[in-house]
Amino acid sequence: MATVQEVKQDALQTAKKYVNDVYETVKKCNPHENEFHQAVKEILDSLVPVFVKHPKYMNNAILERIVEPERIISFRVPWVDDQGKVQVNRGFRVQFNSAIGPYKGGLRFHPSVNASIIKFLGFEQIFKNSLTGQPIGGGKGGSDFDPKGKSDMEIMRFTQSFMTELCKYIGPDTDVPAGDIGVGGREIGFLFGQYKKIRGGYEAGVLTGKGLGYGGSLARTEATGYGAVYFVQEMLKDQGLSFTGSTVVVSGSGNVSIYAIEKATELGAKVVACSDSNGYIYDPNGINLDTVKRLKEVERKRIHEYVQEHPQAQYFEGCTGIWSIPCDIALPCATQNEINEASAKLLVANGVKAIGEGANMPSTLEAIDVFLNNKVLFGPAKAANAGGVAVSALEMAQNSMRLAWTFEEVDAKLHQIMVNIYRNSVKAADEYGHPGNLVVGANIAGFLKVADAMMAQGII
Ligand code: NDP
Repeated sequence: MATVQEVKQDALQTAKKYVNDVYETVKKCNPHENEFHQAVKEILDSLVPVFVKHPKYMNNAILERIVEPERIISFRVPWVDDQGKVQVNRGFRVQFNSAIGPYKGGLRFHPSVNASIIKFLGFEQIFKNSLTGQPIGGGKGGSDFDPKGKSDMEIMRFTQSFMTELCKYIGPDTDVPAGDIGVGGREIGFLFGQYKKIRGGYEAGVLTGKGLGYGGSLARTEATGYGAVYFVQEMLKDQGLSFTGSTVVVSGSGNVSIYAIEKATELGAKVVACSDSNGYIYDPNGINLDTVKRLKEVERKRIHEYVQEHPQAQYFEGCTGIWSIPCDIALPCATQNEINEASAKLLVANGVKAIGEGANMPSTLEAIDVFLNNKVLFGPAKAANAGGVAVSALEMAQNSMRLAWTFEEVDAKLHQIMVNIYRNSVKAADEYGHPGNLVVGANIAGFLKVADAMMAQGII
């Protein structure tokens, strides 16, 4: 008869083989989609202890189903530029999983957008949305359209054409897009106007991130950045640490970065650097956020302009150098894979204590290993940046009730949601044998709720 140890070993080998087989199939069925493979691998590897403990998920092919989007929509987006020339872009919406609610996830307008990027983001969104504790499924969309250098009228014509096709597939109870890289308040306004015109009704809950005058929620603009800082604050608190007096580096200078800088500064940190896709600024006095907000949100200029107004600051070309600046806390808030193994090692060598991922998948798998192996507190994106979608769900709730909460009410709910996400991730990591590993904890906590809903709803 097999010993208890042998049975345990057997269950572990079976779970590992299952996860590996599913991963190999994903690679085979989705060739060349490297970002999607990376996101799937990160989740699958951390779910092994779940399959050891609960083989029912294996027997019901939950993984095979969860890695396959329920629907992928790809469409032509023709539009006319200011010179009267016809331009064509490609639009996407990946409706990944609706087990616990309508698909929910942002739209990204960036030249790098392709099926792999949208699928990685949509896949991550399933688990992130589940972690918020709210009834929202996972989806993501976007286009390879480059908003940089385009006039307001070009942006409007493009977004109207994009929505003319997308409107066939979305709705307040089916799929609710929001913003992401390249899609802010201006774009959401144009998208909402076109949806309303075509549908002929005021379905406020079809998009989130709307302007405050037409159904938007207070604190939605701030939510992702504030939420990431609230999450890191919890990680620090557990170790007897805080933002007060710390030195912080934040990459990017967009929506997430600006409000991460704002909240970290409010909590007593000195944020000494931020960036855009061309380079980064270092200000030993601490970043002047009013200048950054005006340059990026109002004038839509490049970050290097900052040094003209603040001569003590320096500008450096290129993005990766920002991680060579010594800091206590690093908040990558720009884009995927912006911290590689070498940058992670540099951060560790310079004494970094905590990482909070404001962007989606900003650290490579190798970089995450460096942080975990060196006992750096690590808040993975799914958990740390879930504040944005959480407040989007609060915006949907307000739209359904035809009510508007105050800034303080929404901010208090956001804060509590981030604390809950942190605690649930810690608890899952403990329960499944990886204490302190929030990558494993967040993935497991997010997965279980979706997997149970899928089991309850039959083979669909
Ligand atoms: P924005 O478009 O507002 O800002 C993005 C910032 O990142 C800009 O400063 C941009 O610089 C920089 N950036 C973009 N691409 C690159 C690149 N390839 N290399 C270096 N820098 C780059 O987007 P958000 O702030 O909304 O999004 C940032 C990240 O946060 C993304 O990963 C997004 O998916 C994630 N996120 C956003 C949420 C939200 O609510 N907005 C919610 C959850 C996650 P430049 O101006 O030069 O393009």
